[in-house]
Amino acid sequence: MQRLQKEKFITRFSAEHNPAYSVGLDEPFRVETYDCYGGKITDPRQLRTEVDIPFINPATGPIYIEGLQKGDTLCVEIQDIQFNETGVMVLYPGMGALGEEVKKTDTRIVQVRDGKIWFNSRLQLPTRPMIGVIGVAPAEGAVLCETPGDHGGNMDTKWITIGSKLYLPVFHDGGLLALGDLHASMGDGELDGSGVEIGGLVTLCATKQAGNSPIRTPVVETSSTWYIIASGKSIEAAAKKGMKTAVERLAMFHHLSFNDAYRLLSATCGLEICQIVNPLVTVRIAVPKEVLPNPFS
Ligand code: CA
Ligand code: CA
Repeated sequence: MQRLQKEKFITRFSAEHNPAYSVGLDEPFRVETYDCYGGKITDPRQLRTEVDIPFINPATGPIYIEGLQKGDTLCVEIQDIQFNETGVMVLYPGMGALGEEVKKTDTRIVQVRDGKIWFNSRLQLPTRPMIGVIGVAPAEGAVLCETPGDHGGNMDTKWITIGSKLYLPVFHDGGLLALGDLHASMGDGELDGSGVEIGGLVTLCATKQAGNSPIRTPVVETSSTWYIIASGKSIEAAAKKGMKTAVERLAMFHHLSFNDAYRLLSATCGLEICQIVNPLVTVRIAVPKEVLPNPFS
């Protein structure tokens, strides 16, 4: 299996980068990733405010996917996520949704092993692996790896995890996939601005999704649910965007009027928060599979 090394990474998603790697469709591959600080914070004495980090969220890639063309829908199956042995959670005044309450800058390094996060001497948490940053080159221009969007990027969505499939619109031939910013655990919202930040090794397989209606924003599939991902300047703006896509897909599949698809959305689907701490916030509309068997038809 091809192993793509973390030393080749991007700090912004853009079609102007030359591919660092290429992989075939239906061919599993492994991707090494740095943590969101490029692996530069490894000791509790290193404070975020004092370590020079010129960019955050380095994403390994770009990975050219052979046979993938502009206008396709890319499906990325997440087969496995393995972690390094330590994770990091920094804090400084102003960080996260309660930033004004943070009076002291400090850094916590936690051991991650045997499926557990050793938060302190008394408290162990189960790991809940996820990929914070994953995306393709956007339709236009360049988007920093800290910002989410229709191309994916810093979506910080906990369901982008082992066993899930992530669908992304393809804006350029080959897609130019990149990923990084793994979390050993992160709650919805990413409320203090940080998951358990960690580097690791991700096993993926890329396929091309068939269907008459290619998606225009990211979608995550779990065993029970489609999550339509939308980012915007506020929770309300992102929610509206995701809802529009969900209503459109429900209307398309069931041949419903707008009003009936809107009713079906309201009766069966849910608005959930992915993160509220990045330059745009990200939400997801949870659509049960029994309500929408296929969002691509
Ligand atoms: Ca992130
Ligand atoms: Ca992160």
